[in-house]
Amino acid sequence: MSPKPSKSKLAMGDCCSEAADSRLGPISNDDLLTNLHLSEVIHSHRQQCNSLASKYGELIVLGYNGSLHENEKGRRRSKYILSRRALANGIRKSRHVSVADPAASAAVLDQNQHSIAYTLSRHQSIIVLYEKDPHTDMFQIGRSKESQIDFVVMDTIAEEQKNGEFRSGISRYACRLLIDRDGEEHAARIFAAGFDASSNIFLGENASAWQGAGGTIDGLTTNGILLMHPMGTFCKDASAGIWREVSVDGGVYGLRESRAARRAGPRIEDETNELKDGSLIDLCGATLLFRSVEGLSNSPTKSELLEKVAKLNAGRPQCPVGLNTLVVPSRSTLSHKDREKQPYVYLKCGHVQGLHSWGSQNSNEKKCPMCLKCGPVVKLVMGIEPAFYVDRGHPNYAFNPCGHMASEKTVKYWASVPTPHGTNGLNAICPFCAAQLTDTPGYVRLIFQDNID
Ligand SMILES: [Zn+2]
Ligand SMILES: [Zn+2]
Repeated sequence: MSPKPSKSKLAMGDCCSEAADSRLGPISNDDLLTNLHLSEVIHSHRQQCNSLASKYGELIVLGYNGSLHENEKGRRRSKYILSRRALANGIRKSRHVSVADPAASAAVLDQNQHSIAYTLSRHQSIIVLYEKDPHTDMFQIGRSKESQIDFVVMDTIAEEQKNGEFRSGISRYACRLLIDRDGEEHAARIFAAGFDASSNIFLGENASAWQGAGGTIDGLTTNGILLMHPMGTFCKDASAGIWREVSVDGGVYGLRESRAARRAGPRIEDETNELKDGSLIDLCGATLLFRSVEGLSNSPTKSELLEKVAKLNAGRPQCPVGLNTLVVPSRSTLSHKDREKQPYVYLKCGHVQGLHSWGSQNSNEKKCPMCLKCGPVVKLVMGIEPAFYVDRGHPNYAFNPCGHMASEKTVKYWASVPTPHGTNGLNAICPFCAAQLTDTPGYVRLIFQDNID
């Protein structure tokens, strides 16, 4: 563990190792600072200083462009850094016992004993007992704010769904990760269900639980934890993999007939619950992206992305109608005085212009003055969360309908990935805001005035 940098040493770029510098270098462009909360940068910089030496990877919730809409608070954030624990807190299976009433069992009553109770029938339950494992670290994810949950994740819901009665599909104790502490690889394995404050997992009568050949016991949680490993390498040649379900014991299964159906899908023997760079984990209401430390070194850093925005703005793109200079913001909103500099993209053709009233057809559509195509127009906003990028290309594409900008390869990758939409099937989404992509192909190449040849 590296010592915590003292406050006086927090001048950007001088308190960290080389690796830390490459993740968050000095910011040179004064203009950029107006678009940044400096405290936020220093906070994440300090976090990186403390954690880089022992970092396993990151879990990033899809739908947030670098931070939650509200402020990031405590264990509820848009991103969780998986770091080596000071002391191992992993567990491993030791033995199992058959009982009639699991709630009264000594193992379940012992708060220091991790156990999973599977209800096989009204009169028979099996309790699997776990022992401490000095070689792994455990991380728990769920909706509960109890202290044993490391990463608190709430539903990512679109604005239009927020009103009315809303019932979360995410379990309070949704899933857990076990990561190898030793060696170079730090294999991370995912399991459905997390332990409650008493170190128990209860799979009740309504959950799907079974005893297989050889006495192995396993089960599924109500809405299940879905898993998709990309095919190929995330930052090279990846394409979408097939969505599977991971069980409480870490087995991989085909999807059930419906999300909460009782019968498990078929066992997929040759696939594992070991996460790889770019694996997606769906909690039924929020989807997480796993990035390994090695994988992240192939994505741009946040400062590299800010530099790309600065470079684009240095080309002084113009609105072909107003002839005013446009400024691509690196955050979702420009300050009031800069509002007329906000660029908009015509989603049918990709022409980028300022806000003007020429060609208005109805509230949703405008005719593009450059090519006369009619279609929706939306604000351009930089995709600034680095972990979603599959390469270091220029951000000259934008998602349709939201206008989040990213590199061509990044936009094309996410447009090809079907992502679970709660219990309602699969849709390609923009990773920066979780908007379902519309039209085919779901993105557009941007044409700036100064780029026309
Ligand atoms: Zn056009
Ligand atoms: Zn978006």
